[in-house]
Amino acid sequence: MGQAYDVVIVGAGHGGAQAAIALRQNKFEGTIAMIGDEPELPYERPPLSKDYLAKEKTFERILIRQPAFWEERNIAMLLGRKVIAVDPAAHSITTEDGATIGYGKLIWATGGKPRRLVCSGHDLAGVHTVRTRADADRMMDELDGITRAVVIGGGYIGLEAAAVLAKFGKQVVLLEALDRVLARVAGEPLSRFYEAEHRAHGVEVRLGARVDCLEGADGKVTGVRLHDGEVLDCQMVIVGIGIVPAVEPLIAAGAEGGNGVSVDDRCRTSLPDIFAIGDCALHSNGYAEGATIRVESVQNANDQATVVAKTITGADVTYDSVPWFWSNQYDLRLQTVGLSIGHDAVVQRGDTASRSFSLVYLKGGRVIALDCVNATKDYVQGKALVAGGIAPDPARLADAAVPLKELAAAS
Ligand code: FAD
Repeated sequence: MGQAYDVVIVGAGHGGAQAAIALRQNKFEGTIAMIGDEPELPYERPPLSKDYLAKEKTFERILIRQPAFWEERNIAMLLGRKVIAVDPAAHSITTEDGATIGYGKLIWATGGKPRRLVCSGHDLAGVHTVRTRADADRMMDELDGITRAVVIGGGYIGLEAAAVLAKFGKQVVLLEALDRVLARVAGEPLSRFYEAEHRAHGVEVRLGARVDCLEGADGKVTGVRLHDGEVLDCQMVIVGIGIVPAVEPLIAAGAEGGNGVSVDDRCRTSLPDIFAIGDCALHSNGYAEGATIRVESVQNANDQATVVAKTITGADVTYDSVPWFWSNQYDLRLQTVGLSIGHDAVVQRGDTASRSFSLVYLKGGRVIALDCVNATKDYVQGKALVAGGIAPDPARLADAAVPLKELAAAS
């Protein structure tokens, strides 16, 4: 075997970076290596569909830490290297270039690869996904030469990318297969609000849209053909239809899982000394009534990383953080707390016309989540309602003049 480290982190993204940071914060003195298949030091992924794509922030500004930080803490950065195999018995991993690296503990923080279209034309030039800096750079390089783009997928990434393209004055068609955008993650009032906002900014939002194939000429995309035969002309396609967790080497090594790798409440996989965190970790989440899910958010990656670092340094901690998330589109800042999955009622605070309002999701009368649009106070104060499983008086909850902190205190 070549080198060996006390802790090897696979994946130099949000979770991997935070695991290394938290290990040193918790006085871990052993050797640490981070292996990442991207060439860059860890950077923030959310700006790739927001201010980085909009050319409002440089790459240096989205680095999670400056280069000196990793050197000063003696964290070896093995970048541009992909891990292709794990040998749990030998406590080693193998990289694509044939090197074998030993570990004491392994932290698997590989996120996921963008789900791709399976129809013909999916691999034409001009067809993009948005997961990495390289993806965003490729899109940015092409932007000047295009006038029309089609975005496939009305989730957060698709909507954010559409907003940036519209800002650049491009004609944008957004295709969503379901009958509303954000259908998997938000209540209907929020979906309708965002559909209306995008339309007001010139984006053509098409719901229930079914893509048949992508058309091209000379290897470049020229249009999107829908099931009914209509062809939408375009020079760029952005595909935002979710991710596939990057867990093949771990599953091949015998780890339990499927759509992700299964972990317990300390983020331990079924294999000895191997943890998994972030987008790829299938865990039982207390804010989803214990359902086994993957949560794709910076909060989840960071907090699971911290739990692992504390576990490795001997603390007795479990993962039970309140989920939170944000999305920026146009001048709208959405902040969410909790998970709205399984809600049976929605209460609206404030008027959508004012472009500052919140949706409060309830289950059995208890607050399980909030979506707050330009309403940071509700977001900040609502967290206690979610964390405490508070059942507030519905009339007061619906009154935007009543601060949420009063409802948390009154229950
Ligand atoms: P990642 O940050 O994806 O890091 C995983 C790293 O591992 C990657 O560099 C990957 O290439 C590498 N890797 C994979 N396989 C291997 C291998 N075999 N060997 C070596 N390296 C490997 N979240 C929010 O909370 N708010 C937002 O507004 C938001 N916006 C987003 C916008 C975009 C465009 C994207 C793509 C994501 C957004 N997210 C947002 C989600 C958030 O970025 C992820 O949840 C977070 O990055 C997950 O961290 P992670 O460490 O699990 O994975």
